[in-house]
Amino acid sequence: MSEEKSIFTRIIEGEIPCFKIFENEYVYSFLDINPACPGHVLVIPKEPASYLHELSPESSSELGKALPRICKSIIEITGASNYNIIQNNGSEAGQTVFHVHFHIIPKYPESTHSFTWKTVKLDKKAALELSQKISDNIE
Ligand code: 5GP
Repeated sequence: MSEEKSIFTRIIEGEIPCFKIFENEYVYSFLDINPACPGHVLVIPKEPASYLHELSPESSSELGKALPRICKSIIEITGASNYNIIQNNGSEAGQTVFHVHFHIIPKYPESTHSFTWKTVKLDKKAALELSQKISDNIE
């Protein structure tokens, strides 16, 4: 983890202004400064972890509780009944701010953004081996 404060920690601490949506002891939420569409919201832990897998159980649990509440408010207020949650980890995965964050991105009928990828057929033998290895490795 970097010693330098992330831009999101500076937002939490009030050093950088934002359009705040929600705050409690563990979680902070605000509008993305460069939204994909109206209602594009970021939800972050106050804990300054860079990646999701580094987060404490307390922050993880509080994020899990806050996300559906914030999503419900966004869809009720914007009228978008569809939305995506995007959470990038690492620069190759598109992460630009190294402080865990969830994007909540409404999808309106007229929205042009999409989150799709090419798929391949699952190899059953490789899948069995991989699923068992990942499962056995979970701490
Ligand atoms: P990432 O690409 O890391 O998943 O997303 C980082 C997001 O943070 C981007 O969508 C970007 O627009 C947003 N962002 C970066 N700096 C600021 C800022 O100072 N204020 C706000 N509100 N959003 C920011």
